[in-house]
Amino acid sequence: MKLCRFDNDRLGIVEGDAVRDVTAALDILPRHAYPLPRHDPLVASLTALRLRIESLAANVPRRPLAGVKLLSPIANPGKILAAPVNYRKHLEEAREDPGIHHQKQVAEIQKIGLFLKATSSLVGPAEGIALRHLDRRNDHEIELAAVIGKPGRDIPRARAFEHIAGYCIGLDMTVRGPEERSLRKSVDSFTVLGPWFVTADAIGDPSALDLRLAVNGEVRQQANTRDLILGIAELIEFATSFYTVHPGDILLTGTPEGVGPVQPGDRLTAEIQGIGRMEIAVRAA
Ligand code: MN
Repeated sequence: MKLCRFDNDRLGIVEGDAVRDVTAALDILPRHAYPLPRHDPLVASLTALRLRIESLAANVPRRPLAGVKLLSPIANPGKILAAPVNYRKHLEEAREDPGIHHQKQVAEIQKIGLFLKATSSLVGPAEGIALRHLDRRNDHEIELAAVIGKPGRDIPRARAFEHIAGYCIGLDMTVRGPEERSLRKSVDSFTVLGPWFVTADAIGDPSALDLRLAVNGEVRQQANTRDLILGIAELIEFATSFYTVHPGDILLTGTPEGVGPVQPGDRLTAEIQGIGRMEIAVRAA
């Protein structure tokens, strides 16, 4: 099942190039009082929600996806986990390019672990990317994003996939420079998630998916998730040896080689096999 959030926070089920508005299914979500939960309520209720969506969908007309504004399919993640330098060839390019490494040693992911991005950086493809530091190098990074479905800590890799609800395309936009990753990658709009959320059962094996990013039609990044240094299961084992994950938490699994700068006016096309394709406009903030 492919679920999107569109226009004015409508919930949609995606079928080919069409969408059916199944917002009425959200009625089954619990009403929360302060303090709010740490999880995303939609993802936390996904099993029940899917049944409700299926029963509603047949009676709702299809409308073209091209006419809707796609927001981040996950509205309220508790945290955004991200893997640095998790493809071998990207590690090599980062070590060779001073524009990327900024005189810092680029260590393997096994030594530096994961980092966190601010949830306020999250947008959907239709919202676009707004660059704030135009005097700096701002890079694109396409990544497979896994969405946590079941809470857990100290999750062994053999059980990791039980905790994944589904997948999206993620962009981990980055200001290059000497500061901490969490600062440089948390600029508003620097986490793009979309075009929709694909439930895990619809993906099959996430460890062999082609991914591709083009800037103004020119392919810049092209790889396959089989080249991840730490796979999704290992990342979840590693992350949860430090902290608890909750439904709706987003795991950006790392970007392959080919990262490069973007400018206002650029148009990015990001594609991952089994998920889909999204276009994102870059502008000055
Ligand atoms: Mn990244």
